Amino acid sequence: MVLEAKVKAQLNEYLQLMEGDIVLKVSANTDNVSKDMMNLVNELASMSPRITIEETELKRTPSFSVNRTAEDTGITFAGIPLGHEFTSLVLAILQVSGRAPKVDSAVIDQIKAIDEQYHFETYVSLSCHNCPDVVQALNIMSVLNPNITHSMIDGAVFKDEVESNNVMAVPAVFLNGEFFGGGRMTLEEILAKLGSGVDAEAFADKEPFDVLVVGGGPAGSSAAIYAARKGIRTGIVAERFGGQVLDTMSIENFISVKQTEGPKLVASLEEHVKEYDIDVMNLQRAKRLEKKDLFELELENGAVLKSKTVIVSTGARWRNVGVPGEEEFKNKGVAYCPHCDGPLFDGKDVAVIGGGNSGVEAAIDLAGIVKHVTVLEFMPELKADEILQQRLYSLPNVTVLKNVQTKEITGTDNVNGITYIERDSEEEKHIPLQGVFVQIGLLPNTDWLGEIVERTKFGEVVADKHGATNVPGLFAAGDCTDTPYKQIIISMGSGANAALGAFDHLIRN
Ligand SMILES: Cc1cc2nc3c(=O)[nH]c(=O)nc-3n(C[C@H](O)[C@H](O)[C@H](O)COP(=O)(O)OP(=O)(O)OC[C@H]3O[C@@H](n4cnc5c(N)ncnc54)[C@H](O)[C@@H]3O)c2cc1C
Repeated sequence: MVLEAKVKAQLNEYLQLMEGDIVLKVSANTDNVSKDMMNLVNELASMSPRITIEETELKRTPSFSVNRTAEDTGITFAGIPLGHEFTSLVLAILQVSGRAPKVDSAVIDQIKAIDEQYHFETYVSLSCHNCPDVVQALNIMSVLNPNITHSMIDGAVFKDEVESNNVMAVPAVFLNGEFFGGGRMTLEEILAKLGSGVDAEAFADKEPFDVLVVGGGPAGSSAAIYAARKGIRTGIVAERFGGQVLDTMSIENFISVKQTEGPKLVASLEEHVKEYDIDVMNLQRAKRLEKKDLFELELENGAVLKSKTVIVSTGARWRNVGVPGEEEFKNKGVAYCPHCDGPLFDGKDVAVIGGGNSGVEAAIDLAGIVKHVTVLEFMPELKADEILQQRLYSLPNVTVLKNVQTKEITGTDNVNGITYIERDSEEEKHIPLQGVFVQIGLLPNTDWLGEIVERTKFGEVVADKHGATNVPGLFAAGDCTDTPYKQIIISMGSGANAALGAFDHLIRN
């Protein structure tokens, strides 16, 4: 038996939801992975009379495709989709059997309208938390459109391909043989990247808003809900709805929810926002803000939105260390998400740049996977909480270098080392290693505002206790402001505060 009894019981319930027959076409050999894959496939077939198995030869062995009886869908799993990909397999089975995917009808129409031939291949690791979203989005596209195929490939099984394609971070998506994108991507983001996004014309007839929120993270979502609850015309423009929370694994300090995961919290946020009459314009990047009679917000696609008040809640992003090699080796050994990319460095040597909470947490996490971790901290002492430092120092495969400055990330095709300077002796040293995780904090996403509003020397928008900036009618909330602490619950509170501030401004003017 491949599946545990509890998982099998749950799976049994899901398989009852199948609406039609499916065929699993398998390409197997005599190796152990093939045998394990066959055990899984046979177990699935034994659980539902709607599932049959056919032997075939696919591009990769071991692999299997999930098809309707009379039509191949193009969904293939190369390797064994257990771990985090098990849900992707179950969803693929249900959707191929005829169950409609939970996607907006507008998105379904967008997918069905694609007439180019798109063959996607996604390299994953079974412990990657960001991978299933991408795999499931591309599977939905394959189910809905015969021009689209998608293969999930377990990098641990197809190591040669991982090497030859230079995959150093998962998920790594290739389209028709060319690198398409890495990291978490939603279905809407994939469509936008394919050029199936919304163009400026769709925004041409929008009436001015009372409150226009820019940014769709916790701050923006909360601001939009608070504004909409006042019965005023509210819109929200977001480059990527969910913001940093989408990249967050376990959240344990969102008060009243003991533990949750980022994508789960984003799904609840989205559901809550959609309860209200809020015009959500996702996957739209704000380019410029101007104040005339009304505020005018120009988007990257050329559209201009007008509003009486604006709440800026564009959050923050990972800070780059800015040394030679960082850009060049991004996704070729330079990584930012230990939860996602840690397993790719199994048995290898890595460095973590940054000795704050996120750097030390990353080092502790990585120490359980990789051979050795070197932490590089610029200051003479680590800045992480004492309890994290104690845990770090208790680990046998961690070296901490303090008072050092990273000079260069070296490599040829991929990272092969890091060069640093000992700040007291000014001596230059080099450590051979295969991965570098950059963990040195966040930068506010406020460059697009230019000079229109007062910002600190770090680029944070200066906001008062009402969320008001120095420009009447312009408010700000969350991580993009000069608030000292950057947390989900704080951003939500400041979003609510800014929305009430904006409402107050509207009724007084
Ligand atoms: C890995 C990680 C783990 C974390 N863990 C926790 C935790 O456990 N608990 C906790 O409380 N906090 C945690 N945080 C911090 C928390 O995620 C942030 O404080 C919070 O998300 C900030 O919310 P925000 O809405 O201000 O900004 P963000 O979440 O950054 O959202 C910004 C929004 O603005 C959009 N945007 C940016 N630029 C533009 C533009 N030009 N035009 C249009 N839209 C734009 C973005 O796409 C996004 O929708 C974590 C952060 C990270 C990165």
